[in-house]
Amino acid sequence: MNTKIAGLAKELKKLFGFSTFKGQQEEIIQTLLDGNDVFVLMPTGGGKSLCYQLPALISEGTAIVVSPLIALMKNQVDAVNGLSSTEGIAHVLNSSLNKTQTKQVFDDIKAGTTKLLYVAPESLIKEEYLDFLKEVKISFVAIDEAHCISEWGHDFRPEYRNLKLIIDKIADVPVIALTATATPKVQDDIQKTLGMANAVVFKESFNRPNLFYEVRPKINVDKEIVKFINRNKGKSGIVYCLSRRKVEEFAQLLQVNGINALPYHAGLDQKTRVANQDKFLMEECDVIVATIAFGMGIDKPDVRFVIHYDIPKSLESYYQETGRAGRDGGEGHCLAFYDPKDIEKLEKFLAQKPVSEREIGLQLLNEVVGYAETSMSRRQYILYYFGEQFDPEKGLGAKMCDNSVDPPKLKDVSKELKLVLTLVKDLEEKFKTKDLISVIVGKENPVTKSYKLESTKHFGIGKKETENFWKSIIRQATVQNFLAKDIETYGVLKITEKGQNVIDGKDKNSFLIAEDREYDLQQQKADSE
Ligand code: ADP
Repeated sequence: MNTKIAGLAKELKKLFGFSTFKGQQEEIIQTLLDGNDVFVLMPTGGGKSLCYQLPALISEGTAIVVSPLIALMKNQVDAVNGLSSTEGIAHVLNSSLNKTQTKQVFDDIKAGTTKLLYVAPESLIKEEYLDFLKEVKISFVAIDEAHCISEWGHDFRPEYRNLKLIIDKIADVPVIALTATATPKVQDDIQKTLGMANAVVFKESFNRPNLFYEVRPKINVDKEIVKFINRNKGKSGIVYCLSRRKVEEFAQLLQVNGINALPYHAGLDQKTRVANQDKFLMEECDVIVATIAFGMGIDKPDVRFVIHYDIPKSLESYYQETGRAGRDGGEGHCLAFYDPKDIEKLEKFLAQKPVSEREIGLQLLNEVVGYAETSMSRRQYILYYFGEQFDPEKGLGAKMCDNSVDPPKLKDVSKELKLVLTLVKDLEEKFKTKDLISVIVGKENPVTKSYKLESTKHFGIGKKETENFWKSIIRQATVQNFLAKDIETYGVLKITEKGQNVIDGKDKNSFLIAEDREYDLQQQKADSE
């Protein structure tokens, strides 16, 4: 496709009506038109679609666009068809089409009318489609939502795994892969699986400087959220809950409190779901209470807050979900409620999964704990996770998080860390957090009894502090990789090399934790209110 096309800006104006390219769009398009494989990592709203739509419209032949969701494909096809007076310039090809419709699509492609053909990966493997596509002129292949290839992404789809093989069968053309997920692990997976090691990579910053990040302990959460929303009366917002039941209950609770809220989850019938979503988009409803089923492809620019009633399963999902706030560049408050008990529930849930899924799930969860409990700039934490350096003093959006505005007091708990690590070692790395804590505070339980731990020198060694204090130390030590949870027996704590260095006195760094993590005290205070 070595057709170097000058005047891309002119085409942009003519076809899309925009006067300038956004970010690196022009370079991306030119690189693809020059015949290279291209890999685009750009946050949601960055303008990824145009990076393949424009070159498709001006190239000879049809571009195949692989996309995971039929609903999103339809929106895109309608949008592209709206750009031109030529009918059938974009088509969807999938099993929902009847024979006549499929024939129409094939005819339009053969006639050279169709410039963009949207297909789901599971449709692409159909013999009938493959045989046809092999025979026609394909300009290039675009793989949208490319993170679906990776088990480390937030939306793994096994059908994406074989894409490389299928594409190779169809044509030898450039491939452009696009995603809004940019963790180094996912990026590596995508490039390897698609055989795109030599692709030209374009990565835009994932920093969203207008978003304010905050984490609060999950205490009196209903009241706290009602208070928050009342202070932001009339503004648009989303509250994410983990379960459908919670979504319904909480939407009702908000309604009872005079808040204009509606529920959204995949268990509601299609009509209600669409109606509720539309009301939110049309400003007839202020707050949508939803499971993560809500949001994909929703482009409401003035969402002012995204609240997580329950902590999400990965930092990646958190970034995507909070990313729906402040798309217009205006204020966007991202508030998450954190309770270590929720993490334990999610861990238990993962324990029933196959080993590889469990291992990945636990590591992703560990990052969430790290984020929730960190005392550093939350923006810095998130961007680091995406492989991006951020200066917490001078970077864009530097003061936009709770930890930066009101830094938590830090406490030096190096001695306590060493105590825990030594204990784990002395007890031969056989126990889980709960039992280790029982030993530390000197509380008998069936495990301590059966192993006769009451008679060890460690029993009750840390009884001056609360159980929650020790839990927090162990969690932080795990997040910071002094301890590792065994995958097989999930939960048994092992000493890492880093942890061994502390025991041996080789690591003399201070181990600091944020002081305001005393959930017990806060809970008591809340209960007495
Ligand atoms: P993404 O797929 O990266 O989430 P989209 O492709 O949906 O982003 O684009 C986000 C928005 O930006 C859309 O409303 C789109 O019309 C708009 N957009 C894309 N490119 C440009 C441009 N060059 N100038 C102005 N607006 C643009």
